Amino acid sequence: MTEAFRWREAPHAQFAVIGSPVSHSLSPRMQNAALAEMGLPLRYVAIEVPVGEVGEALARLRDLEYVGANVTVPHKAEAFGWLAEVDDSARRLSVVNTVRFSGPRGPEGISTDGPGFLDTLADLNVQPAARATLLGAGGSARAIAAALADAGYAVSIFNRTRERAEKLIADLNIDAAILDLPEVRSADVVVNATAASLTGGDLGIDWASAQPETIAYDLMYAGGLTPFLLAAANCGLRTVDGRALLVAQGARSLEWWLGRAAPRGVMTEAIR
Ligand code: NDP
Repeated sequence: MTEAFRWREAPHAQFAVIGSPVSHSLSPRMQNAALAEMGLPLRYVAIEVPVGEVGEALARLRDLEYVGANVTVPHKAEAFGWLAEVDDSARRLSVVNTVRFSGPRGPEGISTDGPGFLDTLADLNVQPAARATLLGAGGSARAIAAALADAGYAVSIFNRTRERAEKLIADLNIDAAILDLPEVRSADVVVNATAASLTGGDLGIDWASAQPETIAYDLMYAGGLTPFLLAAANCGLRTVDGRALLVAQGARSLEWWLGRAAPRGVMTEAIR
């Protein structure tokens, strides 16, 4: 567990992750390792912020002269609402995961989840127009569906509540198919963007029907394999957990704040 400060008691530091709960976050360990590797005497902390207090908390960090903040569950939409400036992809999704306090017109925000996710697919050598099956239609699924479709992947979406998948496709105006079942037979990569791994819920995937080279990718990270990844691994498939995305989106945040390349290898090692 990371030490998590209450926002009214935010310490002297330059960067933070805000969330609720946030004490499980691996971001401080990862980002402090990156800052040390870069030779920068800067500090990154975890700050607990209750729902409804995100604007006040970000204003407090700005007043304390923080350089930037990452924003995690469940605050990405609330942070978006507080910002004066956001980039096009954040505006399309109405969320941000990264804030920079010193923009010329006030605090600015971007979302590095989608681009970071594409970085991880490139690392896995899963290139457009590979076939991606996305499970889920919540906040993370939206960012990932938009990134995948815009980059030219062939996207299929399954969600427990079908209407939500239909709404996602319509809202984002993307080209994607809707599946009636979590079908993996023709997928190059299967991305779990549901919260089922949090509750141990079974998504009912027939991994035995997958191609041997199919990759199972869970956005969630936990100590060890999630039930989703364990079932895929038991069928001999390659697995990737959410630490890959954590590093990729965090590296992009750091690069946006500092204007320098982030040491991804060190960041990966720090949370191994
Ligand atoms: P949301 O609450 O926005 O969406 C939840 C989604 O999960 C919905 O599609 C919902 O379906 C589905 N779902 C929930 N429970 C079940 C279940 N038992 N069976 C099937 N489907 C279920 O969540 P987020 O998008 O914010 O987060 C999703 C996951 O991604 C979380 O595990 C989170 O930890 C992880 N994540 C990881 C990140 C990283 O950096 N590694 C970044 C962001 C998220 P329905 O619509 O039917 O309710």
